[in-house]
This record gives sequence, structure tokens and C-alpha cells, in this order.
Amino acid sequence: MPKKEIVKLILGFRHFREKFYLGEDTTYTKLSNQGQVPKTLIIGCSDSRVDPAILSSAGPGEIFVVRNVANLVPPFESGGGFHGVSAAIEFAVVNLQVETVIVFGHRQCGGIRALLFPEECHAGGFVQQWMKVAKPAKERALQSEESGDPTLLWKKCELESLRTSIENLHTFPFVETAIKNRGLNLMGIYFDLEKGELLELEESTGLFTPIPL
Ligand SMILES: [Zn+2]
Repeated sequence: MPKKEIVKLILGFRHFREKFYLGEDTTYTKLSNQGQVPKTLIIGCSDSRVDPAILSSAGPGEIFVVRNVANLVPPFESGGGFHGVSAAIEFAVVNLQVETVIVFGHRQCGGIRALLFPEECHAGGFVQQWMKVAKPAKERALQSEESGDPTLLWKKCELESLRTSIENLHTFPFVETAIKNRGLNLMGIYFDLEKGELLELEESTGLFTPIPL
């Protein structure tokens, strides 16, 4: 007998199937016959509260998503290593030719908390190693947030980390080529899950401004 939460997930799939496979909605017939043509890549956090598809009410086939701890983009590295995030970015930009790449950060990010307060993180080492990608963000946050308030520092570092990921996106040669040749658009968006608000990073000024909703 599957656990209650698994039964709920299977029931959820049943509703999905009734809509897209047994009903009149032909979305999956098209997606299956023609393949996917998403226009947007979203790099989001694995946090269960920040699913980009749920938050944007996106339908099947609309967004290409890669999620990881703290929605980080590592810098471009050639050669060895298992670069799962870089592979997803490459596939979306080079093969799918997405028009926009969004790095999607959020308030109360556990990965950023582990970066700032490693003594509170009881994971086995993978999280700390992965979070080194955001080390420049931690340094900038510590420099600019002088109040000593851990919550303010946490939020500041989340925002700085978004900035770092956008900077790292620029280190991928195929991203730079796509910006130059076909106007690929890079965006940093931050979801304040406490307030239900979105902030956008303006690359020209480096400031975060609320998105009118
Ligand atoms: Zn997170």
C-alpha cells in the first residue's frame, strides 16, 4: 500500500491524464508530435515552495526548467566534471534557442542560509561544496550589510547570489554569442515568498525593482 502522500500524487496524475489524454485538450498530442518549443529557460531553486511552473501558471511545453540548490549558475568550465546545470543551459540556449534565460531566486533560501551559516547546516558536504559557487555573493553581502541582522544578511545574500549567477551566465561563450547574434535576454527575478512579490534585477543599474503586478 503506497503512502498517503504518494496516493495523492497519483490521484493528481489521474486528473492531469483526464484533462490532457482523455479529454479534448490536444496540448500533448501537439507536444508529442512536434516536440517542445519553449521560449524561456528558468533556473530555479529546488525549494518545494518555488516551482516556476506553479508560480507562473505555465502550461505544458511553455518553460524549460533546471532547478538546483539555491538556483545557482556555476561559471563556465571546459573539460571534465559532471556539469548538469551547464548542460541544461547549453541545451536550452543552443538547441532549443530560447529567447530568455531567467535566474529565479527567492526569500528564505535554505542553500543561501547554509552558505552564510555553515555551522547550522547538517548536510554531508555536497551542499557546502556546491554553495562555493555563490562565495562572491557572500563576500559582497557581508561587506554591504552592516547591521549584523542575520535575516537582512540572508536576504542581501540571496539578491547578491542572483547577481553572481547572471555574471556567471555571461562566462558561457554560447550565451554571449546568442546575446550578440539573436538578442538572447538574461533576467534575474527574485520571489519574496513572504510578501508574494517579485523583484527584477536591472542589469544596467544593478538594482532590484518591484515588478508591477
Ligand atoms: Zn532556495
